[in-house]
Amino acid sequence: MKKNKAVVVFSGGQDSTTCLFWALDKYEEVEAVTFDYNQRHNEEIEVAKEIANDLNIKHHVLDMSLLSQLAPNALTRDDIAVKDGEDGDLPSTFVPGRNLLFLSFATILAKQVDAKHVITGVCETDFSGYPDCRDVFIKSLNVTLNLSMDDQFVVHTPLMWLDKAQTWELADDLNAFDYVREYTLTCYNGVRGDGCGECPACKLRRNGLETYLKQRAEVTE
Ligand SMILES: [Zn+2]
Repeated sequence: MKKNKAVVVFSGGQDSTTCLFWALDKYEEVEAVTFDYNQRHNEEIEVAKEIANDLNIKHHVLDMSLLSQLAPNALTRDDIAVKDGEDGDLPSTFVPGRNLLFLSFATILAKQVDAKHVITGVCETDFSGYPDCRDVFIKSLNVTLNLSMDDQFVVHTPLMWLDKAQTWELADDLNAFDYVREYTLTCYNGVRGDGCGECPACKLRRNGLETYLKQRAEVTE
């Protein structure tokens, strides 16, 4: 297994694109994997393809359309609105076990392409109720994956303890700030870059961006 090769779980959004740059900085060989599960906006897959192509990265798109059968939700069904979780409920974008599946498939792919490292942009800090984004879960799954394939994969989560402002800072440190800001798609309404400005994903992204830009301005003053 190649110690200098990584597979990045990649959606074309801010977080996973930052992870892609993080991996490119660290490993000689990087491949990306995107899961197609009939996202509300197929634009997401297109953006992921474009970015991977642009960065000259081998890109795998895996069909995970069965997810919409298992968990009809706001990301895959037009008749369910995207909204924040209220009163401790999970947000309507939640697909139970999604990261469990994505990381497992990404690691099976890593085995096939001979990569020791698997990178995912999950994050506990902006915790919106996804239990399979927690650090303890990722570590547990890492052990399970290694046992399942009798191998020594390392699952990396560079964003685990970062807030959104710090994720922008990381992109900046990797000389990818402008790229991430302009080309990625985070918006639930399928608008690239700064997005529609109205949906929960855009608000979260903008708040982090504004916080980071303010901090950066203070440092350079
Ligand atoms: Zn939006």
